Amino acid sequence: MASPDLLAERDPGEELIGWLSALDSAGNLWRSEYQGLVKHTGGCHCGAVRFEVWASDNLHVFDCNCSICVKKQNRHFIVPASHFKLLKGADHLSTYTFNTHCAQHTFCKTCGVQSFYTPRSNPDGYGIAPHCLDEGTITKITVEPINGKEWEKAVKGHPTIRNMSKP
Ligand SMILES: [Zn+2]
Repeated sequence: MASPDLLAERDPGEELIGWLSALDSAGNLWRSEYQGLVKHTGGCHCGAVRFEVWASDNLHVFDCNCSICVKKQNRHFIVPASHFKLLKGADHLSTYTFNTHCAQHTFCKTCGVQSFYTPRSNPDGYGIAPHCLDEGTITKITVEPINGKEWEKAVKGHPTIRNMSKP
């Protein structure tokens, strides 16, 4: 049962205000264009890095076998950059790059958790770790293995992966 404090924090007008003020400070459409998607929230382990992301409640997750994804078990789903908003922790992020230095492996400096990153396959979007989302907004996860060991072949030949970060 939710504590009275939690209930008090919930403002019934919040959603409506969100729809009315759909332009954020950068002038980007933030809410009104995402009908049919849900707002997931998530972050790293220590709580320094927090984000919200608009995506389906039925997530299409890539399980990649490239050298780094194997080591960090980096399963992720891809969203356009405009669907992702870092709420806090920009100053807590470290970035690891290698090889082409295209992928930006961002992780929390404090706890080390990579809750989101910029994939080489989709530099115009983000890869989000479904296991770093808060509970309650995912209804289904479909996992697709992707052969990142043969990256060029796997990504360039994939029918939809490049489009997943297009607004
Ligand atoms: Zn952290």
